[in-house]
Order: sequence, then C-alpha cells, then structure tokens
Amino acid sequence: MNSKYIIVCIDSDIEILNKLEQKITTIIDNNYVVYTYTMAEEALLESFKNIAKGYEILMTILSDDLPNITGEEFLLNFYKNSPYTKNVLFNLDLDVNKIANIVNNASIFRIIEKNLDKFNFELMILETIKVYDQERRLRDYQNVLEDAVDKRTKELKDTNVKLHLLATTDSLTGVKNRRSYFDSSDSMIPHIRREKQDLGVLMIDIDKFKSINDTHGHATGDEALKIVANELIKVVRKSDIFGRIGGEEFATTLPHTSLEGTMLVAEKMRTIIEKIDFASDDGSLIKLRVSIGVSMLEDEDNTLEDLLHRADLALYKAKESGRNQVCYLENK
Ligand code: GH3
Ligand code: MG
Ligand code: MG
Repeated sequence: MNSKYIIVCIDSDIEILNKLEQKITTIIDNNYVVYTYTMAEEALLESFKNIAKGYEILMTILSDDLPNITGEEFLLNFYKNSPYTKNVLFNLDLDVNKIANIVNNASIFRIIEKNLDKFNFELMILETIKVYDQERRLRDYQNVLEDAVDKRTKELKDTNVKLHLLATTDSLTGVKNRRSYFDSSDSMIPHIRREKQDLGVLMIDIDKFKSINDTHGHATGDEALKIVANELIKVVRKSDIFGRIGGEEFATTLPHTSLEGTMLVAEKMRTIIEKIDFASDDGSLIKLRVSIGVSMLEDEDNTLEDLLHRADLALYKAKESGRNQVCYLENK
C-alpha cells in the first residue's frame, strides 16, 4: 500500500461497491486508494489497523442498513479513532433520530442518494477531497503555530528565570545579593512580629581582608570570598536568609531563632572559617578569620535596617575587642 489517503466504501450489495470503486478510481490519483467492504465490522477493524499504521481515512461512504453492525454503530465507533474523516451516508432508511445521534456524537459530511447516476457523484467526491485537504492543512498550520507559541513561552519563562537569578544573585559568590537579602528579610519581619517569634541577625565581616588582597592579589581575594560564602551558607538552614551585603561582608537572618540559637550559629560560622587553611596560587597558606555582630528582633524594630544597625555596632565591638569573635550588645 503506497497511498496515504484511504476512501472506505461499505455496502452489502457488491454491485454498488463495484460502481463506487469504479467511479471514484477514475477521478483520484495514486495518493488515494479505495477499499470496499460488504461488512461494516470488517471495515471498522481494517480501518483501525490502517490508522495504526499511520494512514488516514479521508472518507467513508455507507448506508445505515448494513448486516451485523449498522452504519450508525460503525460511525459512532469509527469517530473515536478518526474524527476528521468525511462520512457520506446514503439516504435510504435514515430516520431523523439516527441522523441526530450521528451528527451529535460522530460526524456526517453529506447525505446522498444511492442512485449514483442521478447526481454528480464525482463532483461530490472531488469536493470532499478538497475540503478534507483544506482542513488538514489548517490543522497542520495550527500545530506548527502551537508548537512555535509553546517554544516561545518556554524561552520567555527560561529567560525570566535567568533574569530573576541575575537580579537576585551575587555574581562572584552565587549567594543572594544585597538587594535580595534585604527584600527577603524585610518581608519576613512583619510575619515574625505578628507571631511574637524570635528572629536573629548576623553581620559577618572578614578580618583584615585588605591585607589578603594586598599580599596575594585581588584574584586570590576573590577566591577567598567564594570560599567564605560557600562555607558560611552551609551553616544556615533552608528557611534562613543569607547574602553578601558588601565587599567582604555577609549577613544572615534567622527566623524562629532565639538569642541562644543565633549565638550558636554565629559561633559555628566563626569556627568553620577559622579552620580553613586556604592555599593561594603562590603556594602560601592563607588563614581566614571572621568577626560577627549579632542582633535580635526587638519590639521597637520596624525594618531590617534597625536590626542591621545594632548588628553593625556589635560587629564594631567584635573588631575592637581583637577580631575573630562573636559579639552581641545587650539592648540598653
Ligand atoms: P577589618 O578586619 O577591619 O574588617 O579589615 P578589612 O581589611 O577586612 O577591612 P576594610 O574595610 O579595610 O577592607 C575591606 C577590603 O575588602 C577592601 C576591599 O578592597 C576588599 N574588597 C571588597 N570587595 C572585594 C571584592 O569583591 N573582591 C576582592 N578581592 N576584594 C574586595
Ligand atoms: Mg568591611
Ligand atoms: Mg573586613
């Protein structure tokens, strides 16, 4: 079978079938093939097999009055696997309820007389082929358009995700940038206040970082920043917010965390950094240290700025007291 489009004729009368086949064959080219059946059941089975093989049933011609299964039953079943086929029914013995049932639950393209010489049957066939072809092209075009729209929508979504990441991520260390850290923390504070929960903030600053740059170069400094960010973020929970808020300064917001818990996190951060012996490109060992200022959410705090201000004062105190330490200033 080379043809792609199948025309199915079903009639219990062999003479009618022969006539249908002969009339149709005179006007179609070898893109189309006519199959004739005396039984609708066989036609249904064969058609489904052909559809499964990838062929399209362009058209069926049949009457309702068939042995075994009727034309109506054929069309209702056939429609489920081949909804675009143009179905042509002979007008013999058709009652309006049957027509309504087929129109509502399957499809009818034309209802014709069985006396094929009484009208221009060939013209009807050509018209059916033309309509099927037009509708098919439209469906193909629609699919192409839908694919293109889907692709574009996905691209836009990917771009938006990338843009969001770019806008919220610190490009050197990959952690949240200052703006994103502030936005995320700020939006958390009203909720924590309403729930009368604890919230701690840490401001973390690398000690004597300028000398690392000065001694080993800016690139090594950058490498050190990446290592520190990477180590610090390991200490916090998923629900905590961690970001790089300045050159060698990081901050963490710890919701639902008491002063004791906040101090523990801070101390853990300090010791984890203290343990890093970082080999620079020139082979020398660089020791990294951080000082950390702690503050806790108080009744009078309105924004994150208030908390960060106190954390900054505590950080200053930690630096002043010799660096590599955690400091919390009792509020008043
Ligand atoms: P302190 O212990 O008092 O914090 O001393 P410090 O040297 O860490 O503090 P200071 O504020 O004097 O210096 C911070 C240095 O961090 C200065 C700046 O060149 C460096 N820095 C800031 N951002 C970057 C960066 O993105 N990459 C590198 N390599 N260095 C940075
Ligand atoms: Mg600093
Ligand atoms: Mg510093």
